[in-house]
Amino acid sequence: MDRSQELFDRAQKVLPGGVNSPVRAFRAVDLCPRFITEAHGAYLYDADGNRYLDYVCSWGPMLLGHDHPEVRSAVEEAVRHGLSFGAPTQREVEMAELMVDMVPNIEMVRMVNSGTEAVMSALRLARGATGRDKLIKFEGCYHGHSDCLLVNAGSSALAGGHPSSAGVPEDIVKHTLTAQFNRLDTVEALFQRWPEDIACVIVEPVAANMGVVAPAPGFLEGLRALCDRYGALLIFDEVITGFRLAPGGAQEYFGVRADLVTFGKIIGGGMPVGAYCGSRALMEQVAPCGPVYQAGTLSGNPVAMAAGLAQLRYIQAHRDLYAGLEDYARTLAEGMRSAAARHGVGVAVNQIGSLVSPFFTPTEVTTFVDAKGSDVGRYARYFKGMLERGVYLAPAQFEAMFVSTAHTRSDLEATLKAVEETFAEL
Ligand SMILES: *Cc1c(COP(=O)(O)O)cnc(C)c1O
Repeated sequence: MDRSQELFDRAQKVLPGGVNSPVRAFRAVDLCPRFITEAHGAYLYDADGNRYLDYVCSWGPMLLGHDHPEVRSAVEEAVRHGLSFGAPTQREVEMAELMVDMVPNIEMVRMVNSGTEAVMSALRLARGATGRDKLIKFEGCYHGHSDCLLVNAGSSALAGGHPSSAGVPEDIVKHTLTAQFNRLDTVEALFQRWPEDIACVIVEPVAANMGVVAPAPGFLEGLRALCDRYGALLIFDEVITGFRLAPGGAQEYFGVRADLVTFGKIIGGGMPVGAYCGSRALMEQVAPCGPVYQAGTLSGNPVAMAAGLAQLRYIQAHRDLYAGLEDYARTLAEGMRSAAARHGVGVAVNQIGSLVSPFFTPTEVTTFVDAKGSDVGRYARYFKGMLERGVYLAPAQFEAMFVSTAHTRSDLEATLKAVEETFAEL
C-alpha cells in the first residue's frame, strides 16, 4: 500500500485526481487506487507486491486474460517493423475482412482509436446519411465522452437533453433525446413527437454502464421495428458486447440487426482501437468516398492492429470459449445469490454472457431507475472486503464484472469464498 499511496500522492499533483480516466480513481469507494506494475492471465500485480484476481480486465478488452501469448508475440513482431507509417498496411485489410466475416450485417469497417471516437463518428454518419439531426439515447447508457452523448435527460423522457458535464453547451445537446432502457413506450413517444427528425437510436444492446442490465424480451426487436417505421437508423454500441457476448456480438446473440455497429475494447486486444461498421451503402458515405468527414493520424495503427487481429483470430478459432465464459459467470452469479440469501444481504445479481453485476437492492433490476436504487455505500464496503481478500472489482457500483478465459475453476472458488466472507460482514 505504501508505494501505491506514494505514487498517488505524486500523481495528484500532476494528473487531475491522480488518474488519466475517472473510472480508475477509487473515489466512489473512498480508497487509494492500486498502482499496477504488471498483469498475467487473470491476475494483476501492484507496486507493493500484492496480487489480485482481476474482474476489471482493463474494463473489458482482456477477454483472453492479460499477457496472452499469441497477442503478445503478434505485438512484438509488429513493433520490429515500425510503429506507425501514416499509410495503408496489410493488417488493416485483414482486420476489416475478419470483422466482416465474424460480425453479421456489416460489409465495411472504419478503424479509429477509441470507443468514443467510434460512436462520435457513427453518429455523424447516421446524421449525414439520413439528413436528420435528432438522436435517441438511453438514460444510464454510456457511449464515450463526445459532447452530444454526454447527456442525462433527468426524469422526463420527452424533454430535450441537458448536458451532464460542464463545458457542453445546451445548444449542442438540444438534439439529443433521452429514453428509458427496456421501456419501448418512452422511445415510441419520442418518435411520435418527432416522426421525421430522428436520425438514429443508439443503444448498448446489453446496458453495461449502469451495472449490467440485459434487454427485456422484445426490447431490441421493438427498437428495430420503430426505427424501420420512422426511417431512423439503429446503432448498436457494442464497445463492450462486441466479441464478448458472441463472436458476432449482440446482433448474433439476440438475432437483431443493427444498421451501424461500434466497437472498441476487445477489438484492440489491450491497445487503443475502435471501429464503426455497417453496410457498404452507409459506409461509403464516409470520406474519402462520401460527404461525411472523419479521419485519424494513427487510425489502423500497425501495432494496435496486430494486437486486435491476434485476439480476434484466437476467438474465431475457439468459438467454444463462450460456453466456458458463460458457465463461469452463471456459477459465479448463482453462488453470489446463495451467499446473499445465507447472510440476509439484499442483492440482485444480474448476469448475461460473461458480464455480471451485483446490485445492493432487494428488488429486481431491469431499468436504470431500479439500478439507481442500489445502496452504493454497501457496494463500497463489499468492494473493500473483496479487495482485502485479493479480488479486484470495479471501484463503483454502476460497472460490470468481466470474466476472461484465463479465469479458472479455482479462481471461481476463491472468489465465492471471498464473497461468502465479505457478505457475512455486511
Ligand atoms: C467504454 C465505452 C465507450 C467508450 O470507449 P473509450 O475507448 O473509453 O472511448 C463507448 N461505449 C461503450 C458502451 C463503452 O462501454
